[in-house]
Amino acid sequence: MIADEPSAMDGLADVYIALGSNLDNPQAHLESALSEIEKTPGIAQVRSSRFYRTTPVGGPPGQADYINAAARMKTNISPELLLKTLQEIEQAHGRVRHVRWGARTLDLDILLYGQRVIDDVDLIIPHPRMHERAFVLIPLLDIAPGDLDIPGKGLLNALVAGISRNGVSEI
Ligand code: AMP
Repeated sequence: MIADEPSAMDGLADVYIALGSNLDNPQAHLESALSEIEKTPGIAQVRSSRFYRTTPVGGPPGQADYINAAARMKTNISPELLLKTLQEIEQAHGRVRHVRWGARTLDLDILLYGQRVIDDVDLIIPHPRMHERAFVLIPLLDIAPGDLDIPGKGLLNALVAGISRNGVSEI
């Protein structure tokens, strides 16, 4: 058990992820996803933002509101393995992906992996749309310093100052 123990994990790059759900008790999906992430070998010091209720952006009309959060952690697993791990957790929550930006039981995205920039077919870091999404940036500011540099996009504080908070409320 490595969670929360000061250890050799200190000094590793910080990783930030986004969590979202708008089906079947979204808050419970986020809480259990966070506890599954905490139990994953090689992931330590998981800290979650507050949870926010957010109006859906894009996708088909009539979707339920989302619950969104962000989490910070330290890890010694690679970005690729982290993506696979998060996708397995999504699958375990019964996520069915029929419609792009449609309703989902659980969506987990890697926002940042230290200051790494990755542009692969199935993994782009920083997450390509994070800098323009209030439902990502506002939770992120709960757990990240305002002067966090989002490679290629600027400082978190400046990005938050440039977006509207409409449709994002703390629960
Ligand atoms: P979504 O439907 O938004 O969850 O998108 C999932 C797809 O985005 C998967 O096929 C991933 O391979 C891809 N993807 C690219 N970059 C990322 C990232 N930073 N975090 C999560 N998924 C990513």
